[in-house]
Amino acid sequence: MHQMTDDIQEVLFSEERLAEIVSKMGAKISEDYKDKNLLLVSILKGSVVFMSDLMRSVTTPCSIDFMAVSSYGSGMKTSGVVKIIKDLDINLKGYDVLVVEDILDSGLTLSYILELLQAREPKSIRLCTLFDKPDRRTVGIKADYVGTVVPDEFIVGYGLDYDEKYRNLPFVGILKPEVYGG
Ligand code: 5GP
Ligand code: MG
Ligand code: MG
Repeated sequence: MHQMTDDIQEVLFSEERLAEIVSKMGAKISEDYKDKNLLLVSILKGSVVFMSDLMRSVTTPCSIDFMAVSSYGSGMKTSGVVKIIKDLDINLKGYDVLVVEDILDSGLTLSYILELLQAREPKSIRLCTLFDKPDRRTVGIKADYVGTVVPDEFIVGYGLDYDEKYRNLPFVGILKPEVYGG
């Protein structure tokens, strides 16, 4: 039987390491938002696993919402075109919004989303990303919370996909080159 793990060349972050990183972020966010009206906004689908762990490590009361945008299609590079697939349900007025992303790469997706959400006049808005690839940035954007910096390699697992697969890997790794079709 073909297992997902057969396609992995190298594990970069184990389940245990990810749990450590995420609980540290949750503790910091809990401290910073203890007197605020926190709304966690998860950008689907990549951040869904991170979001579900992060929200449970936040100890202050908070609300959650989800937004889906498309920028990558099935490929590995951003197109620069961002389209809203699913918008938020909650009106942002009065909320201290924290946008929860899986990975900050070129920054195009997040800078578009930020601009869009800012226009809805939240009380405050900040960014939180599990992974950051600062070398790849093409727009001036910085996350307020970064789990860890990663090398310029295409990673999968813990929500991150290749062609809509591998999101359910509990760890993060790099695929074998043959998986991409050589
Ligand atoms: P950006 O607009 O910052 O270039 O793109 C960010 C999005 O691209 C992420 O939310 C993620 O969906 C995708 N992405 C960027 N780098 C990687 C990567 O190394 N692996 C995977 N699976 N997706 C990535
Ligand atoms: Mg994403
Ligand atoms: Mg993707």
